[in-house]
Order: sequence, then C-alpha cells, then structure tokens
Amino acid sequence: MIQTFEFSPFHENTYVIADDTTGEAVIIDPGCYEQPEKEALGQFIDTNKLTVKHVLLTHSHLDHVFGVAYIKRRFDVKAYLHELDMVIFNDVPTRCALYGLRGFEPSTVDAFLKEGDQFRFGNTVLDTIFVPGHAPGHVAFINHAERYIIGGDVLFKGSVGRTDFPHSNHADLINSIQTELFTLPDDYIVYPGHMEPTTIGVEKRTNPYVK
Ligand SMILES: [Zn+2]
Ligand SMILES: [Zn+2]
Repeated sequence: MIQTFEFSPFHENTYVIADDTTGEAVIIDPGCYEQPEKEALGQFIDTNKLTVKHVLLTHSHLDHVFGVAYIKRRFDVKAYLHELDMVIFNDVPTRCALYGLRGFEPSTVDAFLKEGDQFRFGNTVLDTIFVPGHAPGHVAFINHAERYIIGGDVLFKGSVGRTDFPHSNHADLINSIQTELFTLPDDYIVYPGHMEPTTIGVEKRTNPYVK
C-alpha cells in the first residue's frame, strides 16, 4: 500500500509504504511541518495499525526532512540518508532560519544508505538506486514487484528537479535520469517528491527536459 501526503508550504509528497501482509511500513521523506500535519501522519500509522521500521530519505532538502525528528521520536526508528547528502542535511537549520521557518526541529541521521541497499519489510522489497544531480546524495527507491519508484526530486511529470541549489549539478541530474530511470520498464510508476505521479514511458516520450 502506498499512502501519499502533501505537506508544508512546499507541497512536498511524503510517502508511507506499507506491507499488506504484516503491516510493517517505511516512511519516505517525512515533510510534515505544522503540528496538524505531523498528527495526520501519526494518526494514519496508528489507525492502520502499521509498524514503522525506518525513515528513508531520498535526499535532505529542508522540505523533505521537516518531520524527521517527530517521526523518530514517535516511532523510535532510524533515519537513513546517503552520506554524500550530509552536506545538505547539516545545512538545513541554517536554511530554515533563512526562510523564517522557526518551527523546524533539527534531527540526526542514524545510518547511511547506498546504491544496491535493499530494505525488506514483510514481503515488500525496496531497492536503492543512486540518482545524484538535484542533490549530491540523491537516491530513489524501487519496488520491482509492484513496479513503481519513489523518486524524490529527480523526475517530475513534464519536468525535472531544480539544479539551481547549492551542490546541485544539472549534467549529473540528466545522466541519472537517462541511465538509472529511463532504463526501467515503461509501465513503472514514478511517485515524485512534488506533484502527481507519472510513468517512465510517458516521460521518455514527452519530457521536454530530457532528450
Ligand atoms: Zn529537493
Ligand atoms: Zn522537494
């Protein structure tokens, strides 16, 4: 089961991936910022009697990590991030201050993940791929059995991730899309970090930013 929440003024997509047989789940990119958003996510977990196993981060721009401290505290789980994104993660408190986001609660990363890592919970398996460019340590999570990708801010419906941020690299981003995403089957659904889902096939045919 995939549950999507859209959180914060940045309209960030937070995903709960739950295994239907065991109720074990991971939360990817918890971007809940306001208290009611945090409670909505927590309530969803409680109501569906899910057991949260991990917090997984595609990357660590502020809109994707607002809720990490809350989720770690509430469910006593570890947060995973690629080591190359720590330069972004460590800067989040400063960035939040620049945006006037006084409600941000700083957190910590507990473990590093890397390309090839598999996260298994119940019968569900998520494979980690490395897709840098929008952020230096950006990863995506693929569920091959259910044919979808939790893609973060790499590939959007008709667009691609911004590369005007510190530590972004446009050539790396396009290379990641071409070599890691566009080599997947056309019917795989992409669940992005913002806006609605799309598919690999649609973006291969129509995305104006990747030729
Ligand atoms: Zn981002
Ligand atoms: Zn984002």
